[in-house]
Parts: sequence; structure tokens; C-alpha cells
Amino acid sequence: MARKLSADAAGYAGRRAAPGSEIAADLRSDTVTRPGAAMRVAMHEAAVGDDVYGEDPTINALEKRAAKLLGKRAGLFLPSASQSNLAAVMSHCGRGEEILVGEPYHIFSYEAGGGAVLAGVAAHPLPVAADGSISAEQARAAIKPDDPHCPISRLLCLENTINGAALPIERIAGPAAAAREVGLSVHLDGARLFNAAVALGVSPAEIAAPADSVTICLSKGLGAPVGAVLCGAPKFIATARRARKLLGGAMRQAGVLAAAGLYALEHNVARLAEDHARAERLAKAIAKSPYLQVEKRGQRTNMIFARVEPAHRETLQAHLQRSGVLVGGRPPHFRLVTHMDVDDAGLDAAIKAFASYRG
Ligand SMILES: *Cc1c(COP(=O)(O)O)cnc(C)c1O
Repeated sequence: MARKLSADAAGYAGRRAAPGSEIAADLRSDTVTRPGAAMRVAMHEAAVGDDVYGEDPTINALEKRAAKLLGKRAGLFLPSASQSNLAAVMSHCGRGEEILVGEPYHIFSYEAGGGAVLAGVAAHPLPVAADGSISAEQARAAIKPDDPHCPISRLLCLENTINGAALPIERIAGPAAAAREVGLSVHLDGARLFNAAVALGVSPAEIAAPADSVTICLSKGLGAPVGAVLCGAPKFIATARRARKLLGGAMRQAGVLAAAGLYALEHNVARLAEDHARAERLAKAIAKSPYLQVEKRGQRTNMIFARVEPAHRETLQAHLQRSGVLVGGRPPHFRLVTHMDVDDAGLDAAIKAFASYRG
């Protein structure tokens, strides 16, 4: 599916594609997916109402459906997973309290410090293992004593998938149990939780089970244009609904957006296996490149991290771009992400482009 990239769309996180160039495979992120025809029909036909009055039937249906899938009793539709995570942090914690969170996790590293800026919640970053998991010992060691010198440890924040690695359930359950033992709550940033479930062959509810609250993102591999759902106990979700209002995320006839999310949960979960298979195929193919070192970080889903020879980073990236192949990532890595808008032809083009680079 070739398309042109506009100047605006090209500027994500400094990874610019040449405006107007033909795109064969946009591997920068699974956020670049665009809603397909059937999803747009579902959006067009959505019944809507004022959601702040609780009267949008499509949003209500999405919240119920997501909660059921995740084995929780209530759900809340939000504009983004970042806002969902922040609403969760605000709902679990008060000012002067803290979260324990993996240092590379999205909540700590990529959400502009929202918990500190907007909620007065401190964050204690924890080291992670090669697969991105936190050990129960490390979680336990970071929990503060009841001492006026310390912030009050309140919440452990976990993430699955983490950097495209699907963590087996025990890697989430272990630290979660350690936190629970001393009265902390557990939030799971499951922006790509369905990738983890599909890769591990378990149900989404099993992945979510060790956590009190869970964020899922609808606009990554699931292919919706926007949206996230926060799930948890009814009382927690009622608190999060207030946080969403405070954060400016309460919307009105947003059933047109929720319809895309419902469509995605219905039609775009099982197909994530295709993205994973293509990521494996791409990883195998580019492992032959003398300029790249493909990293294996736990159970891969739809992401490849490849260390690039620093001297070749710019020329290789430019070569790929001339072939319509866009890659992301920060030095020293390229990050390649497969998703529903990269089909076999796109993947073949990407493999060919990597293979034809001559330094
Ligand atoms: C993308 C992402 C988010 C934030 O999602 P947005 O909807 O873009 O705000 C949160 N957590 C993880 C792990 C993510 O990958």
C-alpha cells in the first residue's frame, strides 16, 4: 500500500522522512497505522450521545467490552494511553506519594513526567533485566519505610510488552506479589498487552490478572486512530473518571472514536500474530547484514532492535529511505516495528533495501 508522506507527518521525533517520497514500509512505529475502510464504516455508523452524561452507547459498550476482555469490572475510555496511565497514577496515589517504575518504562521515560508535574507524585526508577522485567527483590528493596524522610510508596507500575518483549505472566506476577505484600497497588501499562497475549498464547485477562489497573492502547497495533481504555475496579474507575475530567480528557460524542476501538478489539487482535511473524522474518533477514547486530530481548512480538555501526547509521538510513523504507530508534539502535500497514510486499521491499546497502 504505497502512499506519500506529508511534510507534517514526516517530522515525528526528529526522524524525518523526505516529504513526498513513496513509502513501501513505514517501520518507525505501529502508531502510524491508518483506519481501514471497514473501521471507518463502523465509525460512520456509530450511535453516539454525550459521554459526560454517560449517554454515549458506543463508549459504554467499548468500556464494558475492554473490561470483560481484561477480566476487570469497569473501564474508562480516554484519548490516549499516556493520559490513561496518568489518570491511573493520580487515582492510586496522592501528593507526596510515589510510584516504583522500571527506568525504561513509558510512564517514567516518555510521558513528560506527568505524575510529578500534574499530580505531585514522585517516581523511583528501577533497573530492569535484559528482557525488561523487574525482579521481586528489586521492587521490594525500593519500597520505603514509614519514615518522614521518605515519600510514601503507593504503586508499582509494570509494562507488558516492554520494548516489544512479551513478559511471561510470572515476570509480572512476581514483583506484583512483592508489592501487594506490603499494601502497594499495581498498575500495568499494557499499551501493547494484546501483542503479549497473542505471542504467549494466553488470554488478555491472564496477562492483566496480577494488576489492579491496566491501560490498553487502541491506536498502536490495533489500528484505531485514537484512544485507550483504563480498566480496574468500579470504585477506582470512578476516581479515574474524575482525573480524566481534570486532565481535559472527558469527551462528548466520542462514540465515533470508540467505534474504531470496538472494531479493533473485534477484528485486529488475532491478526497481531501476522505482525509477529513478519518481525521474525525481518529479523532473520537483516541478521545477515554486516552493519547490524539484531538484539534478542526476551520473547519478540512486533519490534526489532538492531545495533547499527555508528559510521553507517546515516548512510544506511538514507539508503533505506530512498527505497521507501522508514526506520526509527535512537542511536545506537534502529527500531523496526511491524504492523497492519506493512504487508508481505512491504516487508519484501524492506528486506531488499537492507540487503542492497553496500556501505
Ligand atoms: C505508546 C505507549 C503509551 C502511550 O500511548 P499514547 O496513546 O501514544 O499516549 C504508553 N505506554 C506504552 C508502553 C506505549 O508504548
